[in-house]
Amino acid sequence: MSIIAENIHFIQAQLPSHVQLVCVSKYHSIQAIQDAYAAGQRIFGESKVQEMNEKQHLLPKDIHWHFIGHLQSNKVKYIVPYVSLIHAVDSDSLLKEINKQGKKNNRIVNCLLQVHVAKEQTKFGFSPDELTTYLRTNSLKQYPYANICGIMGMASNTDDQNQIRAEFQLLKNIFQQAKKQSFENDPSFQHLSMGMSGDYQIAIEEGSTYVRVGSSIFGPRLH
Ligand SMILES: *Cc1c(COP(=O)(O)O)cnc(C)c1O
Repeated sequence: MSIIAENIHFIQAQLPSHVQLVCVSKYHSIQAIQDAYAAGQRIFGESKVQEMNEKQHLLPKDIHWHFIGHLQSNKVKYIVPYVSLIHAVDSDSLLKEINKQGKKNNRIVNCLLQVHVAKEQTKFGFSPDELTTYLRTNSLKQYPYANICGIMGMASNTDDQNQIRAEFQLLKNIFQQAKKQSFENDPSFQHLSMGMSGDYQIAIEEGSTYVRVGSSIFGPRLH
């Protein structure tokens, strides 16, 4: 068995049944993905549109492609025909474009709203307050081709396990608050995407349903 297959099995064995592994294959080769596929892995995460398109074209059609990176509105059209889940929707304009392209393709596109809770500065993701305001002042019913399935976030890049845990707890609270505020009767709104190689065990303990793991499976990225 390949080391990649061993790593997949090792992680899969730790997942409760309500948690799914997104195997983050960005910058890794077709061969590496095929090794993971041979181990039974079917969900792969990519963060660059062109790279995901090229891989999608070459690899088996039963792979579920998740887009996990920052998505520019002008590139939405390239992934909407096949993407299974867009993890990091961080603006109304992006959601509007996803809805427009979904309609064009007659395809309902699954999305998560990205919320920023980590201490690092970034321009990506709603702040918790922005999300509350956004959900209060916008009706997402205007976007029938964008199916909001939950919340995605990242913890700070730190060794402080208590801080990581507190940030995952905050994301879980934000998920529950949003559910209550806007998605009470929407069974689609059920996912919390959080946890990466360094912190996925804590994320699972705090309620993650999708862990996004790359380097623990493939080794370090060469970029
Ligand atoms: C690259 C990336 C991951 C995977 O990170 P690893 O530390 O290699 O597991 C997870 N989520 C996002 C959004 C990423 O960009």
